[in-house]
Amino acid sequence: TAKKAGSGTYRFYDASLNASAARGLELLARFRQAIKADEFRLHYQPKVALQNFEIVGLEALIRWEHPEHGLIFPNDFIPLAEDHDLIIPLGHWIIKEVCRQLAEWRKRGITPVPVAINVSVKQLQDELLLETILSALKKYKLPPFLLEIEVTESCFIGDIDSAKSVLEKLRDEGLRISLDDYGTGYSSLSHIKTLPVYALKIDRSFIRDIRNDNSDAMIVASTVSLARNLGLKVIAEGVESKEQLMHLKVIGCDEVQGFYLQRPVSAEQIETILQKGKFDPL
Ligand code: C2E
Ligand code: MG
Ligand code: MG
Ligand code: MG
Repeated sequence: TAKKAGSGTYRFYDASLNASAARGLELLARFRQAIKADEFRLHYQPKVALQNFEIVGLEALIRWEHPEHGLIFPNDFIPLAEDHDLIIPLGHWIIKEVCRQLAEWRKRGITPVPVAINVSVKQLQDELLLETILSALKKYKLPPFLLEIEVTESCFIGDIDSAKSVLEKLRDEGLRISLDDYGTGYSSLSHIKTLPVYALKIDRSFIRDIRNDNSDAMIVASTVSLARNLGLKVIAEGVESKEQLMHLKVIGCDEVQGFYLQRPVSAEQIETILQKGKFDPL
């Protein structure tokens, strides 16, 4: 069963998807052809500066347009792809597709903003990651600052040195690195001290009750000032209301992402929004 989730997209809600190994196998079998069959789509969500509500970047978020099941969201297939090393070819497709899209926007006179790509642990271990990124940038004649990388702290559980060295190479090439879902999971302050990080993205679980839960409000405020004092940018994820937005603006958060301003939408839909260039949320 598929359930409508706004803006013509379908969220796949079959409980058996996770429960049943058979379903996993079915998806897996299909997955191997899905890249070739051009069934993956990137949706884009704006990152918005709280100072003036201008769009300062986008995040690319993958969806699978399954011929029978409709639109499948990443939490339902990225773990599967990870387990079977399919995340590597998918990751390469994502990098090339983002670069192709950026070049297309530029060709059509739309001022491109940096696009962030989510990169998982396995992808960070891929020997071809750096090469794939650099050759895609070169092929489409893009300056490296137009690509950003989002990693979670789970990337640093195992071999922190090799993860760090890959990120340093990317940083040295001119890409920005953000720490995604910041504050969840295996958080260590040494990560933000030793890693070549440009921004912290505060996980949306801390934003949800920021107006009512004093601990959440304190955690977010402390993270904002920590980031500020370390010279890092700070972004809040999952902003769903005007009250949350204003709260974050008042405490000095730099940027927001969330359904209140804009849900992730297709490249065509984001184009119109990019042309406007800013929001008027008040
Ligand atoms: P993430 O990188 O933390 O992305 C943010 C998720 O929050 C996205 O879910 C986005 O649609 C959702 N979101 C944005 N604003 C709001 C809001 O206001 N409220 C709520 N409730 N949710 C909001 P999505 O697209 O389902 O992606 C889930 C996760 O899947 C991502 O979390 C990321 O870890 C992973 N993912 C997505 N695309 C890719 C990709 O291309 N490659 C890899 N490796 N992972 C990806
Ligand atoms: Mg992300
Ligand atoms: Mg996140
Ligand atoms: Mg997340």
